[in-house]
Amino acid sequence: MPSLPILVLNSGSSSIKFSMYEAGDGRRARLFEGAVDGIGTDLGKFWIKDAAGKKLVDQTPALPNRAVAFKMVADALHSGQFPAPAAIGHRTVCGGPTVRDNQRITPALIDEIESYAALAPLHTPIAVYIMREALRLFPGLPNFAILDTYFHRTMPEVVTHMPIPAEYSAMGVRRYGYHGISYESILMQLQPDVPQKLIVAHLGNGASVAAIRNGECLDTSMGLTPTGGIISGSRTGDIDPGVVLFILKKIAETTPNTLEAADKLETVVSKKSGLLGVSEISNDMRGLRDAIQEGNAKARLAVDKFAWTIAKCIGSYVAELNGLDMLVFTGGIGENDIASRAEICAGLGALGIVLDPARNNVRGEALISADNSPVTVRVIPPLEDLIIVNHVVRLLGE
Ligand code: AMP
Repeated sequence: MPSLPILVLNSGSSSIKFSMYEAGDGRRARLFEGAVDGIGTDLGKFWIKDAAGKKLVDQTPALPNRAVAFKMVADALHSGQFPAPAAIGHRTVCGGPTVRDNQRITPALIDEIESYAALAPLHTPIAVYIMREALRLFPGLPNFAILDTYFHRTMPEVVTHMPIPAEYSAMGVRRYGYHGISYESILMQLQPDVPQKLIVAHLGNGASVAAIRNGECLDTSMGLTPTGGIISGSRTGDIDPGVVLFILKKIAETTPNTLEAADKLETVVSKKSGLLGVSEISNDMRGLRDAIQEGNAKARLAVDKFAWTIAKCIGSYVAELNGLDMLVFTGGIGENDIASRAEICAGLGALGIVLDPARNNVRGEALISADNSPVTVRVIPPLEDLIIVNHVVRLLGE
C-alpha cells in the first residue's frame, strides 16, 4: 500500500483532539497533532503542532459550540497548509450491542450507534455529531469507527451478562468494557513477549483495569457504561444500586418529571462523584496531591479510596487469572502519579507485586518492580492514535 495521510479524530464533551499520520506498509509517522479545546466558551484554544513539537497554529478563538469547533479543524485541513487526509478514523467509545466490530461509517451506522447513546451519554452524542459532520465536510472520504469496546469482545458470557431480568438483557444491558484502544496499544508495545497473565490499569480522568489472558481480554472493570468499575475523577464506579435509588428518590422530591430526574441522577453519578465527590475539591489528581500537601483530609480520603478500589480490583483479577505475570500502569495518573502507584501496590506484596521505590520515582515508560518481585510491574504510556491508524489501514486493505 502506498503511504497515505490518515486523520484520527477523538472527540470529547469540550474538546476535539486530532492527529495525522503518514501510514504505509509497516510505516507510521506522525505528521502533526492538534486540538480545539474549551468548546462552549469564549476562550477556546485551537492549536496544531508538528512532530517536532513546533506550533503551526496557536489561536484563542471563541468556540460557542461544537459546529464552530469542528469547522475550524476542517477548514485548517482544507487550507492546503497540511496534507489532505485520505481516510479518517474516529475514536468511538461505544457501538452498543449491534456494532461490535471496527468498520466503515455510513449514515445507517451512525444512526445505529446513536440509538444506543444512553450507554455512553458523555461520549456518544458528540461522537455521532462529528461523524455526520466529517461525512459532510470531507465528502467521499472513507471514515471508520474504531471502538473502545472492540478489545473486550473476547470476555466470556459469565463476565458480560448482568444479573437482571432477561427483558433488560435483551435490550443490550450487559457489560461492554471501555478504554479498549488503550489496552490494545499496551499489548502492541509488549509484542512479541506478551505475558500470559497480564493486568493493565488505565488510570486517567476515567479509570479502568483489565485482566488479559494470552493477549485476550478476560475481564474489565467498566461495565455497561464508563461510569461503572473503579472510582474515576468524577464517576462513582460500581456502587450499591440502593444508593442510586436513594439519590433518585431525593431528586424526585423536587423534580417530578421522570426524565429530568434521571438526567440529574446521571449528572450526580457521572460528573459529581468519584474523586471530585469525595474531596469536594477536584477531579484532578494533581489538584488533590496539592491539597493533601496542605493537610486537606477530604483530598486524602478521596485518594485513599482511589487506591483501595484499584488494589481490590487487581486482587480479584489475580484470582480470575489464577496468577499474575505482569502489571502495567498507564493513563495520566498511571504514568505520572508516583504516589498513586506506590499506594496501590503497598498492600499487594502477598500477590507477588513488589515495587522498587527508586525505580518507581519516575514519570513515563519504566520498569518499576523490585528485582525480587515475582510480578513484573511496568509503566507504559498508551499509543491510542496509532492503534486507530492501524485499524484504519487494515480496513482500507479489506
Ligand atoms: P488522562 O485522562 O489520561 O489525561 O489523565 C488525567 C489525570 O492524570 C488527571 O487526574 C491528572 O491530574 C493526572 N496527571 C497528569 N499529570 C500528572 C502528574 N504529573 N502528576 C500527577 N497526576 C497527573
